[in-house]
Amino acid sequence: MTGSATPTQDPPPVVVPEPVDGNALAGILEQLSGHDLTVSGCECAECGLSLVLAQVRVYDRGPGIVARCPGCDAVLLVITQRRGLSCVDLMGMSRIEVWQR
Ligand SMILES: [Zn+2]
Repeated sequence: MTGSATPTQDPPPVVVPEPVDGNALAGILEQLSGHDLTVSGCECAECGLSLVLAQVRVYDRGPGIVARCPGCDAVLLVITQRRGLSCVDLMGMSRIEVWQR
């Protein structure tokens, strides 16, 4: 047997982007709803944490915007936009409060 070992190559490191706070949602949510929703109360469906949207952790560098719970890291909402259509998925929230004008 020859000693021709193939060099092992480590996979590239996974780069996890740093989140920003929920105030990063202000512009897009106001554009979609006409309200400043960052002051809206909400509740994480996974851990039950009550918070305001300004307190969520936002990852906005992907193809969509993802907001995660600061308590348990569950996905609270996802916003995607394509060809002028916006989709807001609130799958991780058991409650959101929107103030009437
Ligand atoms: Zn949670």
